[in-house]
Amino acid sequence: MSVSDFPSFLPMQNVIQHYAWGSKTAIANLFDIPNPNHLPQAEIWMGAHQNGCSTVKWHGETIKLSTLIEQSRQEILSEKTAQKYQELPFLFKVLAADKALSVQVHPDKKEAEIGYEKENLAKIPLDSPIRNYKDPNHKPELVYALSQYQAMNGFRSHIEIIELFQELASKTLVPLVEKFTKNQTEDGLKHFFISLLSLQGLEKKSAISELVSFSQSSDSSPFTLITDLKQHYPDDIGLFTPLFLNVITLEPGEAMYLDARTPHAYLKGTGLEVMANSDNVLRAGLTPKHIDVIELASCTAFKEKPFDTLKLEPTVHEFGEQKYAIPVNDFKFSLYPSPLQAVVKPQSAEIIMAIDEEVVLSHRSETFVLQKGQSVFIPAYVEQYTIQSQARVARVYN
Ligand SMILES: [Zn+2]
Repeated sequence: MSVSDFPSFLPMQNVIQHYAWGSKTAIANLFDIPNPNHLPQAEIWMGAHQNGCSTVKWHGETIKLSTLIEQSRQEILSEKTAQKYQELPFLFKVLAADKALSVQVHPDKKEAEIGYEKENLAKIPLDSPIRNYKDPNHKPELVYALSQYQAMNGFRSHIEIIELFQELASKTLVPLVEKFTKNQTEDGLKHFFISLLSLQGLEKKSAISELVSFSQSSDSSPFTLITDLKQHYPDDIGLFTPLFLNVITLEPGEAMYLDARTPHAYLKGTGLEVMANSDNVLRAGLTPKHIDVIELASCTAFKEKPFDTLKLEPTVHEFGEQKYAIPVNDFKFSLYPSPLQAVVKPQSAEIIMAIDEEVVLSHRSETFVLQKGQSVFIPAYVEQYTIQSQARVARVYN
């Protein structure tokens, strides 16, 4: 069989992850995906990741996307991608958070390679709770909000951090705050942040209790957020992170990039998320899981991230395509607000998802109709296809 006999549009069946923080209603309501057992529907995974691989229809049969890729890497992924990554380099998700996810940092590529090797040499099993590096890859992320979407991303300015801690006026933290006030540098911030996360015993207890009681008496941000977070994470040192990190609420249709080495957390809302195919997470709070403070410090850039640089603005191209430029090559994300007859010439494998309404895809004599919430995998051997819809269509490629 030659490539010209291969199908252009491979409908995907995707894995739903029922993580405890997931919303029980958002995904069901948005995309009419039934939820008879009222489980949290936290994430839909569209891709070939081993922890939740999509299946596709291939000549009437259902097979794992990863299996299909292994069978004809170059044809499916493109020669260039097959050579560079050997696998689908991205994972596309719908994410619906009802309660906060952990505060986290992802290593850059170099750090991931070194950390993975180091933990292999130390013979820490891949599924061990103290394992930090699950693979040698970085994990940049992009989020596109479908509902209001609240998150933390990057460090506030030094002066803002100091003002918030002065407002809090915690007796326990006086020495740490004073020290940082006298040394308002990246090093000073690193020392402050790490010392605070490392508090133990009575000191930790009284710092958290001072924070909680002040927050309950305050009606201003981010203290109101801390009161919310406390319901699920009552004794968690991560309750301090809103004083360090920018708190942002994306409106529906707004997007944000989460860079390597930048602390962040998803707090509440539904969105599309695209990331490199990796599972490397160093946690910094709001979690019952393992926190490795030393490793975290070594993978974190203690740089201020100005609030007005957080949102990602698209550039508009032919057929109204909105491209979101990001500084890595593992994936690209585009949104078509209402493509009448958008022509696409793939350079890699692609995933198309219908966001609001049905989408019609066509290539030569083949036509495929996608309902909202559904996605389709388009191999790199498809040289051209068209997208038609009255509403938003998401496209992920590399
Ligand atoms: Zn993340």
